[in-house]
Amino acid sequence: MLPNLRAYHRPTTLDEAVRLIRPPAVVPLGGGTVLLPARDPAVEEVVDLSGLGLTYIRAGADGIRIGATTPLQHLLESPPLADLTGGHIGPVLRLTASRNLRGQATVGGTVASGGPENPFLVLLLALDAGLTVYQPEASSLSLAAFLEDRDGLLRRGALIAGLFIPTPRASYGLGFAHVGRTPRDRPIVCAAAFLHLDGGVCREVRLALGGVAEHPLRARDAEAFLQGRPPTPENIQEAASRAAAPLNPPGDFRGSSEYRRAMAEVLARRALSQAAGL
Ligand SMILES: Cc1cc2nc3c(=O)[nH]c(=O)nc-3n(C[C@H](O)[C@H](O)[C@H](O)COP(=O)(O)OP(=O)(O)OC[C@H]3O[C@@H](n4cnc5c(N)ncnc54)[C@H](O)[C@@H]3O)c2cc1C
Repeated sequence: MLPNLRAYHRPTTLDEAVRLIRPPAVVPLGGGTVLLPARDPAVEEVVDLSGLGLTYIRAGADGIRIGATTPLQHLLESPPLADLTGGHIGPVLRLTASRNLRGQATVGGTVASGGPENPFLVLLLALDAGLTVYQPEASSLSLAAFLEDRDGLLRRGALIAGLFIPTPRASYGLGFAHVGRTPRDRPIVCAAAFLHLDGGVCREVRLALGGVAEHPLRARDAEAFLQGRPPTPENIQEAASRAAAPLNPPGDFRGSSEYRRAMAEVLARRALSQAAGL
């Protein structure tokens, strides 16, 4: 637990929660799966978010809104999310966390602390997910932009209130591919791809990679290359090469930098091929 904890807050309004949060001494508490075992001596007060009414999944015509305190397991059991992701959400969440962790870990906590290879965040990037963040005023931010500056935003007291996954235009495909030490282990590297095809060419392309940098990211060069081109095996291979070329992944005992870059190319190709229905 937290060795220097001296106060626990459970606000019932977002305004109150935002006013209380002052990192590093006063921090938000989601499911606590990271915060509590971390035993950070700088934390003196926690702001429990569970009284804010942010546990919901609401499907509308424009997309799906998910409250920050929604446990990951609720997402896995959501038919609208299964529909929108072509069934990818279940396997991706099973890779992200075990059943016990999914019952406790929240969407907001995962966005705030998920690791570089976090498959859920990678899938969300491919889906062009956005966030509602209080800092202290409410603002909308793409997940990609949030991840770019995550440490700075959280240090300044940003509070994630919700996630938005827009309804994609018709005729789209999604693909996801990963490698791990075992089929059920968390990925070493993973890739997710979104393709909207029209008239045989790619009109909207998103390719996201995990396990290749400090945080999950979009492969913008690869996306730009495929835009306006047909998703042929040759074009997909070229896009996958462009996705991997600029990477300089930090290596560790699970995979060297070279291995991660090589896998990024292979997995980008697989995810794009799957999204294209090849
Ligand atoms: C055994 C174990 C294995 C794990 N394995 C992995 C793994 O393989 N890959 C991986 O990516 N993660 C892993 N995790 C990390 C963890 O499960 C997830 O990141 C989890 O989803 C965190 O969610 P939470 O709600 O429990 O966050 P909490 O522990 O409540 O919070 C985590 C951090 O986020 C902040 N925070 C929480 N909610 C918000 C919010 N709404 N707005 C702003 N800041 C917020 C907290 O202040 C804290 O700093 C593991 C954790 C455990 C315990």
